[in-house]
Amino acid sequence: MTDLIPVFDGHNDALLRLYQANDATVEARFIEGLPGGHIDLPRARKGGFAGGMFAIFPPPLEQPGARRAMSTDDEAPPALERAEALSSTLAMASILLRLERISDGAFTVCRSAGAVRTAVEKGSLAAVFHIEGAEAIDTDLALLDVLHAAGLRSLGLVWSRPNAFAHGVPFRFPATPEIGPGLTDAGKALVKACNRLNVLVDLSHLNAEGFRDVAKISDAPLVATHSNVHAICGHSRNLMDWQLDAIRDTGGMVGLNFATGFLRPDGRMGGDTGLDVMVRHLDALLEALGENGVGLGSDFDGAHVPKAIGDVSGLPKLIDAMEKAGYGRELIEKIAWRNWVGMLERVIG
Ligand SMILES: [Zn+2]
Repeated sequence: MTDLIPVFDGHNDALLRLYQANDATVEARFIEGLPGGHIDLPRARKGGFAGGMFAIFPPPLEQPGARRAMSTDDEAPPALERAEALSSTLAMASILLRLERISDGAFTVCRSAGAVRTAVEKGSLAAVFHIEGAEAIDTDLALLDVLHAAGLRSLGLVWSRPNAFAHGVPFRFPATPEIGPGLTDAGKALVKACNRLNVLVDLSHLNAEGFRDVAKISDAPLVATHSNVHAICGHSRNLMDWQLDAIRDTGGMVGLNFATGFLRPDGRMGGDTGLDVMVRHLDALLEALGENGVGLGSDFDGAHVPKAIGDVSGLPKLIDAMEKAGYGRELIEKIAWRNWVGMLERVIG
């Protein structure tokens, strides 16, 4: 490694970690250094993490069974009440905006690809406002307008549970994503509204029928921000060959998920997962999608990642692994950040 290659990443759950810390000073602590989890500003700088899609994920209610329902081979986690989702979604949006306000320029909420580029050049952490699970949004889509005005630029209709718009794919291994029905009428309207507002529609967590519906309806490139290759790890959250083909046909993109349970051929979560399996998924994604269709989608602060990476400061290890696998500098930069910025240019402007 000569110099640090910047990484702009398709998915992290840092806002969830900050929200669940339930601490009024948490934004300042994120900027100064917040131990635990995967991301804070000092570690981001150390690892070359230049930014990414910062997800707002309305968490399940902490009730008996809620956590158990997040494990594999279970039924879909239960649906979330709108009022509950609204409360947590707005709280996390506020955390995102406060991070920018108190950061003295070190953290920027980016509403365009140009803003991401400028932030990366300045060394300000570039955050794109993303929602993972649209439970907070009313079916008249009034809140969508408000969230868009606040900076929302990317939205996944579902997390791995059903809502008013679509059906998320439950966590199962081995299983295909062919579980459950497609989009509701409200879901179809939401996809069209996202197209009109230039909000990216994220397919990660959506089931197969929903994926087909989005492919039919959407006029934007198909994007899965944090999913892996089903042919290598047969988890319901990973993408089948036909899905990769559909993504390629629209000039779309996939971000590599670092979650060990979505990487390993045995589907197990384990810290001893090597970087070689990450490169295997990257190889397969490159083969299926071409050099412009592959990025990273770490799932930092939302998943169990390989010990070899540990947290955001370990990103250079993955860059090294790509170099050792024979990837050239130009390809590594595309995967690390340029492809995401190019995709944002096309979708959000
Ligand atoms: Zn996710």
